[in-house]
Amino acid sequence: MSTLPRVIVLATGGTIAGSASSAASSARYQAATVPVSALLQAVPVLGAVARLEAEQVAQVDSKDMSFGLWKRLSARIDHWAAQPDVAGIVVTHGTDTLEETAMLLHLTLRVEVPVVLTAAMRPSTALSADGPANLLDAIRVAADPQAHGKGVLVVLNQEIHSARDAVKAHTASVGAFVSPSAGPLGFVQDATVRVLRAPLPGPAEPWAMPSSWPLVEIVASYAEPSRLMVDALVAGGARGIVVAAAGNGSVHDTLVAALVDAAEAGVAVVRSSRTGAGHVAVPPYINPAAAAFPTAGDLNPYKARVALGLLLGAEPDLAADAMALQQRLLAI
Ligand code: ASP
Repeated sequence: MSTLPRVIVLATGGTIAGSASSAASSARYQAATVPVSALLQAVPVLGAVARLEAEQVAQVDSKDMSFGLWKRLSARIDHWAAQPDVAGIVVTHGTDTLEETAMLLHLTLRVEVPVVLTAAMRPSTALSADGPANLLDAIRVAADPQAHGKGVLVVLNQEIHSARDAVKAHTASVGAFVSPSAGPLGFVQDATVRVLRAPLPGPAEPWAMPSSWPLVEIVASYAEPSRLMVDALVAGGARGIVVAAAGNGSVHDTLVAALVDAAEAGVAVVRSSRTGAGHVAVPPYINPAAAAFPTAGDLNPYKARVALGLLLGAEPDLAADAMALQQRLLAI
């Protein structure tokens, strides 16, 4: 019997499972077409790294990610993590919304074994496809004791990121994933896995997965905005609004007036920054009227929206308690 670590690969689709009729284009292809068995067969060296078992949890382009699939994926991770001899779990995913799934898993999972998300920027049929190496690296990390207890990780382009921090920051580069404020946790170079530091631990207790997803949307602040979108969201029953604020969390006065009305109507309003990096100050230094809106710290609007959706889905009353909401967001 092999002594290699047992690693489970849960596939959800994405460009890593994409194919094209021509290897010459990495833009014209169909995502989520190649089954996980074929992805593993394409990298024969994997058999020397781990004992692999694979499950096709879904086959979607991650632009179409849904709450239902999040719940299914989470349940499959829990199932496999509960088996005593599983060393780690790899999730293959599309890059487009990987940062959102990563955030959700970071907040809701508490498993000791490494859960490693990986993906590819180029389809499996491309010249210099990045998927095979990313898959190999992710499996190496999932099988490595250094990754134990480090929470949910993201491995692409030889870098190891915390799921809390990783975001997609380029349309096409194989180095599209970065952790803008924190930097990567470590790297993979051939068979060498180095985890250089621990990630932020996240909330002391895992957050509950709500039974349904609340209506939580993102509105951006920019020159000459209208209040139309905020008013429409309130009228449409939104439970939360994340403002992609300018700079260090500042919001146009027109939008602040609409958001104050939204908050009075019971909608939770949270400020994130549209800049892509840095921590949004508490309280905002420009709009005193927006001081009542909690900040999402260094979470970008998409990650902040996932956090707010989870909180409001499980605890709707938080919408009326900006201080409690602020504490929960800063504990992420
Ligand atoms: N649209 C693809 C997806 O997110 C892009 C990718 O995986 O790179 O599924």
